[in-house]
Amino acid sequence: MTMTGPPRVAWAPPLDPSTSGGLPIDQAEALAAALWDECPHCAAAAMWEAYAATLPPELAVSQVVTGVQSVSYGSARPGGQFGLAIGRAEWHRSMCGGLGSVPLRAGTPRRARTAWC
Ligand SMILES: [Zn+2]
Repeated sequence: MTMTGPPRVAWAPPLDPSTSGGLPIDQAEALAAALWDECPHCAAAAMWEAYAATLPPELAVSQVVTGVQSVSYGSARPGGQFGLAIGRAEWHRSMCGGLGSVPLRAGTPRRARTAWC
């Protein structure tokens, strides 16, 4: 594991263990190992997407029961954990390629972009 670049933990979603219900650490490490050196933003986005996939889509469900009919409806709640995770993933995707703030090791040739970028 390289120690350069942005701190992985700071960019990662909640990790399990340490956060119950978070993204399993093994999965996070596998994604980071595969992607981080190529593009930290893509790695972070992949981790947030994986975390979102573990969450049930949160619905603000309203149910109206009139006795004649029962109507349920809902909409994705932007403030929910699922919406948050997707939002973070999209933000990292949007930052892809904007690596000016990421310190590159001196003398390290810039590698070709990955298919994710
Ligand atoms: Zn990228």
